Amino acid sequence: MTQGSPRVAIVTGGARGIGAATARRLAADGFAVAVLDLDEAACKGTVEDVESAGGRALAVGADVSDAAQVEAAVERVARELGPPTVLVNNAGVTRDNLLFKMTEADWDTVMDVHLRGAFLMSRATQKHMIEAGWGRIVNLSSTSALGNRGQANYSAAKAGLQGFTKTLAIELGKFGVTANAIAPGFIETEMTRATAERLGVPFEDFMKGAVAQIPVGRVGQPEDIAHLVSFFVGEGAGFVSGQVVYAAGGPRV
Ligand code: NAP
Repeated sequence: MTQGSPRVAIVTGGARGIGAATARRLAADGFAVAVLDLDEAACKGTVEDVESAGGRALAVGADVSDAAQVEAAVERVARELGPPTVLVNNAGVTRDNLLFKMTEADWDTVMDVHLRGAFLMSRATQKHMIEAGWGRIVNLSSTSALGNRGQANYSAAKAGLQGFTKTLAIELGKFGVTANAIAPGFIETEMTRATAERLGVPFEDFMKGAVAQIPVGRVGQPEDIAHLVSFFVGEGAGFVSGQVVYAAGGPRV
């Protein structure tokens, strides 16, 4: 981190789960953090956590799949916190179903939030990174990019994010900007809780089933992913770009 005012990071989907842990971690690393989520009020908990630990955060309500909302949100962050030079594209949804039952709305919603959302957020923030001659983009992919029953939409979006990441790395490298992706395995959040509910399995049993498949013998926590974001965003990671790291307690590739 350079001297003077803190660098500014935007974490999408920062109200809870992996995004909230990432916002807390980046604030602890010295960043001022914009906690962006669909509902501004839902970001307050994360903002309070950051502030009570002595950090600086701003709650921002925006739908990452809406170009006008994204432009306005990024402008607001630049005005109120400073130019954002770190972006974590973490906002996500699932609309799982087997292919024959998957609706067009299930497909479009997942593509809109993950792919269009990451595209719009990256396009809106890159100008601040290029002006600064420094930037970091981290995209949340998933082990589902390798294929997962019931997730044709989600796995396609998460695989798409890996290609998107590699192209950003190629286009933006000469401006001092890196782009990397993290592909988590099973992380204990509302998202995995909702999957268990949909399958009609108690969450504890669902987690036990997952643990049996995970070499390190536990499910992941949001902080495990936040730790990896912190690495990619750090000054020392400037020669690492266009990579996908599977954080799944085992290889999964
Ligand atoms: P989560 O607990 O469901 O949190 C996702 C957050 O994103 C929610 O606060 C949600 O808001 C927000 N969001 C959804 N649509 C949005 C939109 N259009 N604009 C802005 N914010 C939006 O999920 P998580 O488990 O922390 O996952 C975070 C990321 O990691 C996702 O990209 C997910 O696909 C990925 N991931 C998770 C796992 C896992 O095991 N948990 C594994 C691999 C990858 P609402 O509550 O209002 O919908």
